[in-house]
Amino acid sequence: MSSAREYVKGVLNYVRECSPGQNEFYQATTEVFESLIPLLEEDRRYKDYSILERIVTPERTIIFRVTWVDDSGKIRSNLGYRVQFNSAIGPYKGGLRFHPTVNLGIVKFLGFEQIFKNSLTGLDIGAGKGGSNFDPKGKSDNEIMAFCQSFMNEMYRHMGETRDIPAGDIGVGPREIGYLYGQYKRLTVRFEGALTGKKTSWGGSQGRIEATGYGSVYFAENILNKYGDEIKGKVCAVSGAGNVAIHTIEKLLKMGAIPVTCSDSKGTIYHKNGIDLNTLKAIKGMERRGSLAEYANIHKGAQYIPLHKYPEGGHAAWSVPCDVAFPSATQNELTLTDAKNLVKNGCILVNEGANMPTTPEAMAYLKSNGVYFGPAKAANAGGVAVSQLEMAQNASMQNWTFAQVDTKLFEIMRNIFNTAYNTSKEFGQEGDLLMGANIAGFRRVADAMIDQGAV
Ligand code: NDP
Repeated sequence: MSSAREYVKGVLNYVRECSPGQNEFYQATTEVFESLIPLLEEDRRYKDYSILERIVTPERTIIFRVTWVDDSGKIRSNLGYRVQFNSAIGPYKGGLRFHPTVNLGIVKFLGFEQIFKNSLTGLDIGAGKGGSNFDPKGKSDNEIMAFCQSFMNEMYRHMGETRDIPAGDIGVGPREIGYLYGQYKRLTVRFEGALTGKKTSWGGSQGRIEATGYGSVYFAENILNKYGDEIKGKVCAVSGAGNVAIHTIEKLLKMGAIPVTCSDSKGTIYHKNGIDLNTLKAIKGMERRGSLAEYANIHKGAQYIPLHKYPEGGHAAWSVPCDVAFPSATQNELTLTDAKNLVKNGCILVNEGANMPTTPEAMAYLKSNGVYFGPAKAANAGGVAVSQLEMAQNASMQNWTFAQVDTKLFEIMRNIFNTAYNTSKEFGQEGDLLMGANIAGFRRVADAMIDQGAV
């Protein structure tokens, strides 16, 4: 075994020992570290400076109680998290997730991925992630406000425009960002860009809502262009029906592709003629989070497939004929069974809109069957990139137009693709974008850590 391989194995054992039960975190660290082996073999400095041991360890982990009062007057309690993972190239930056499945392992996997994603954008942003096991579903506006205010009562002291700038993720959209920001302002008496994803009328950036989904489609277009193809005319399967999925579908339609599926935690819509965006937005838009079953009542040509099986069996969205798949809901939603179905049905590209949506077994199967792969940390980096543009506008008190932001997003996604592609070529695996993205994202942060000494 090469000494680089031994080094990786040793640090992964250390991760397992130090973070028992944190399966998603272990999955994310394994995927990144194994693809770094060619770099570690070539450059001994990363081992000499103990970079792997340091980069898997968050600089700071904050876990706190969030107590709030529900509409019936009962006191409720949740766990709040903020993992400030790495500040080598900028202030901590990354979203907040409110979902019952949130735990420390989930927040750490997301924060770890964020290190490389943020680095790949080429912008000066470090990495963090946070959230709570609070479930916004079924809660009144008043309860959500009470929760957000209580969350911020602890969080505010750890953040700031040059320190840590949270944003949204699953369960955290403009409404939650509004309540969080209101409380931040009340506690600090500062109107500053300490949160991104704000509404455009009070400090948000044009194009932030759309950025992750649009960026994901731009990334897929870059991949297809490289091989002399294009997204136009492609039949696309999309999972999710939230921020990322809706804006992926919107951009696919604008670019002449045919998105045929979307899904939520209760079921999947298959609409062979193409998803009707207006209906989808009316049901699942920011102000309303209804059930996708309603869609099939409106469009008789659409099929509603209830309760797709997450994560073991086949997911309905990946069982239909398609050219490109955009998993855009959550982690480990595309399994080996799904990968087999996709290959059987003619899929040529899987482009990850969600974070770590493809299981390692599924990824290996796609690779061995020649399916192109857009890895999450590159494909969905458009959201955090536009968040940084929001910070830049806030700091300079400017408001850019939608077209200005979209043009920058397009360029950033092209640069990310070129960086990942060229790095894969540099290490003899041309077109392996997962490896290229991991090495390029890592190298920039690791070199900064070396420059900054033993911190
Ligand atoms: P939203 O909360 O807006 O939407 C999430 C969607 O996925 C919903 O349709 C939800 O269904 C479904 N979903 C979530 N969790 C599960 C689950 N465990 N099982 C089944 N369905 C589930 O989140 P986003 O669209 O913002 O985020 C989607 C993914 O994209 C996440 O992985 C996130 O980390 C990633 N991402 C998001 C970015 C952003 O800018 N928002 C940036 C980069 C990555 P239901 O409606 O029933 O809850």
